[in-house]
Amino acid sequence: TCGICVEKCPFDAIEIINLPEELQDDPAHRYGENAFSLYGLPAPQEGQVTGILGPNGIGKTTAVRILAGELEPNLGRHEESPGWDEVLEAYRGTELQDYIADVRDGDVTIARKPQYVDQIPNSFDGNTRELLEQTDERGALDELVERLSIGPVMEQSIDDLSGGELQRVAIAATLARDTDFYFLDEITPYLDIGQRVTAARLIRELAEEENRSMLVIEHDLAILDLLADTLHVAYGEPGAYGVITAPKSVRNGINEYLSGYLDNENMRIRPNPIEFEEHAPRAATRGDTLVEYPDLTKSYGDGEFSLEVEGGEIRENEVLGIVGPNGIGKSTFAKLLTGNLEPDEGDADLDLDISYKPQYVTIDQHMRVDAFLSSITDQFGSSYWNTEIAQPLQLERIMEQNLSDLSGGERQRVAIAACLSESADLYLLDEPSAHLDVEQRVQATKAIRRYAEQQDATVMVIDHDIYMIDLLADRLMVFDGEPAVQGRAGQPQPMRDGMNEFLANLEVTFRRDERTSRPRINKPESQLDKQQKQNGEYYYAP
Ligand code: ADP
Ligand code: ADP
Repeated sequence: TCGICVEKCPFDAIEIINLPEELQDDPAHRYGENAFSLYGLPAPQEGQVTGILGPNGIGKTTAVRILAGELEPNLGRHEESPGWDEVLEAYRGTELQDYIADVRDGDVTIARKPQYVDQIPNSFDGNTRELLEQTDERGALDELVERLSIGPVMEQSIDDLSGGELQRVAIAATLARDTDFYFLDEITPYLDIGQRVTAARLIRELAEEENRSMLVIEHDLAILDLLADTLHVAYGEPGAYGVITAPKSVRNGINEYLSGYLDNENMRIRPNPIEFEEHAPRAATRGDTLVEYPDLTKSYGDGEFSLEVEGGEIRENEVLGIVGPNGIGKSTFAKLLTGNLEPDEGDADLDLDISYKPQYVTIDQHMRVDAFLSSITDQFGSSYWNTEIAQPLQLERIMEQNLSDLSGGERQRVAIAACLSESADLYLLDEPSAHLDVEQRVQATKAIRRYAEQQDATVMVIDHDIYMIDLLADRLMVFDGEPAVQGRAGQPQPMRDGMNEFLANLEVTFRRDERTSRPRINKPESQLDKQQKQNGEYYYAP
């Protein structure tokens, strides 16, 4: 270890060449003797969107509480707090000087969107309209409701909203406020790509047109790239210490993060880079047919929603990505395959054992994680299971906790582990990226891929994080249609064809970053955007 960590290094053999410069100074805040310490603070700027990229438990909320004036930073002197005047002295000459002076004088107002929108119903009784009207300080509610498509659920009780609806209502409620500083802790969980892009644009507009300061934590890198003007990377050891770097350009920040090496900090945060395939990957030849399914149809009620699925085949050993907007029938298709729903036409009885992780993870019995997982597999605790499942999903340190006490990200990792630990022919994971930080997404992606390869398993993954789908999938199944009215699912197809079809529906094109080949969303109507649309190449380089 580098002498700071109290536990095993979270980054797998981190190489700390030099003690990072930040750690030679006093922290911004330390909660107590041997307690979590935060080094560095993000610097929100008027008229700009500042991003933070980093793991959970690294001090992001602590930083925001300081910036909001809720927590007086003690500069590491937890025994006697130095007071705001001294804090201001400590930040004199930095980008934060003016901001901290305002905080000291009580001149900063803040609106904050919490990370776990699923918990909003616990603290609010009433319908969407009542919630939003309370927050409408800028008179912008009508526009927010329209652009985030909240209209259809305005009269619905907050208790009955889906995760994606809650997320959009929470974003609207935050952006409707009239404050100097907006803090959004993850905007993408449960949103489809179209909704993600809309939310990102609304945040940018509020910064640019109204000169507000926006601070956003986001783990969907394609969206973070679109959203932010500058980026702070956060690293360290979750729960022990966190370092928030000086601002970087968004492009450099994401590239350095992916490469695993922070240039200015001279700091390796991961042994290996995360790499994307520039050309459509893996000729989709491998694997015999696992199963063929026929054309299927399913409608609900009096045909309020109807789904048509074109018959196709799932191949042995492949990871099949499933993409499409929310409300288009992806979960319905999953339920048809698992036999939880009967189709109106077609026979979906696949005679397969299917292990299914639903989108909204609801495991919250009063039971310890280890007891829960060992009830699923007798492989539990074997060295194979530890290496392939527990380690990459970072389960070791939460084994003794109760399911009901887990955070959203922890619950997600346990649910992925539980799904993969079942013995089954087909593993079906619905939005495994939700609430995972970037590092955990990469680890989970690797775990799922390796597991498919080593267990001769076949995996279907529904997700909206385009980077995760790119890293994970061999082929792609695309859903389109009109959300909540009718959906259509095409056959699984090669990645390039699938991405082109999917992104053409969304009218979004990607270019490649010159340095890392990382896909980046093009500005609509830019030269590249128009040219790629004309050529029909939306994602992979031709
Ligand atoms: P993040 O927002 O990045 O997930 P937080 O700022 O919430 O991280 O927490 C960082 C660390 O600080 C965690 O280990 C947390 O347990 C610890 N922490 C948060 N609040 C307090 C507190 N009031 N007293 C002691 N430790 C705290
Ligand atoms: P996706 O997984 O693509 O978000 P779903 O398959 O969950 O979409 O839902 C498709 C549509 O069917 C949505 O409009 C949803 O409200 C509706 N729906 C889902 N389940 C039911 C049900 N049991 N009864 C009536 N409507 C339903």
